[in-house]
Amino acid sequence: MTNRVLSVLLAVVLGFALLCLGGLAALVGGVSGAAGCGGDPGAGPPVAPGRYSSEQLHHATVIVTVGIQRGVPFRGQVIAVATAMQESGLRNLVDLGANNDHDSLGLFQQRPSQGWGSPAQLLDPVWAASRFYDALLRVTGWQQLPLTVAAQRVQRSAYPDAYAKWEPAAAALVAATVQTLTGQHQPGSDNQSSATVASGTWCVATGWQRPVTGGIVSGFRAAGRPTHDGVDIGAGRGSPVHAAAAGVVVTARCNAHRVDGGPYSCDIDGDPVTVRGCGWYVDIAHPDGPVTRYCHLLQRPTVEAGQPVLAGQVIGLVGSSGHSSGPHLHLEAHTGQPATSGNAVDPVGFFTARGVDLVSR
Ligand SMILES: [Zn+2]
Repeated sequence: MTNRVLSVLLAVVLGFALLCLGGLAALVGGVSGAAGCGGDPGAGPPVAPGRYSSEQLHHATVIVTVGIQRGVPFRGQVIAVATAMQESGLRNLVDLGANNDHDSLGLFQQRPSQGWGSPAQLLDPVWAASRFYDALLRVTGWQQLPLTVAAQRVQRSAYPDAYAKWEPAAAALVAATVQTLTGQHQPGSDNQSSATVASGTWCVATGWQRPVTGGIVSGFRAAGRPTHDGVDIGAGRGSPVHAAAAGVVVTARCNAHRVDGGPYSCDIDGDPVTVRGCGWYVDIAHPDGPVTRYCHLLQRPTVEAGQPVLAGQVIGLVGSSGHSSGPHLHLEAHTGQPATSGNAVDPVGFFTARGVDLVSR
């Protein structure tokens, strides 16, 4: 599968706009001067730290993107990339006949005869990565296991110890990929290694979108509501709330309380008179500095603080927790971090400047 097909696949399957970034290839020896998306889809050089073909970088991006979208922690993404480095050199290997190990196919050399999927499915990198994560998340205590053991329990490889040697390179590559996709460093990642492998030709998810479908029912600091630091978007209870753009979750918690300061649950509807606070809410910090806030969610958000998210990723459901009179999304936009009343701006103008119309139905 060519890189161009992969790019289209990512855009279609994950629903993101893809922006091709070039110009950094000169900083790294492993990229063969390809500009934009695509370039040399042939067999790249062997995987070594800092030396990746554009095809290998694309496959790492697919694996990390699927992991982020499914909420798989950083270490799980490292295990997946290290496994693909060992199994295929991050190449989407077709049936090599007698040179292949059994009927193994694709990035992870999964076998149709072992129930991993049809040959066509296993040659779809998104499918292959999804199946790898399915199996990894079923391994009890996988986060505490050495990489070799976790990968072996998924792959049942004849050469289990071979995975370990890829761990440092995989960790650096995942950190660099996360940084590129979200514009943020992963906590604890090695920035120096990241800088080395981040220098390639990439296709990154970009763009902004509406968090929910619905019209504005109450405006920013509208007449009679001078402290209303966001807009209210009417949407049915349980409607999915999407991240407006890629970034990192900085807050995901409940802050409902009674007007007298007493505790109040976010798992039940709040009240516009007797309850204060955002209820269940999420703050996302975006690469260029701003923060978006999503309030009154129905239940605990599906994301956690510190987790990278992509544009359009579901972060929770519309509800009425906290200071709220009925199901809706209270959406705020802030020009800096942390989000305060002082740096809150009208989301209508904020989103318009990013090409998104919040007003039209
Ligand atoms: Zn509101």
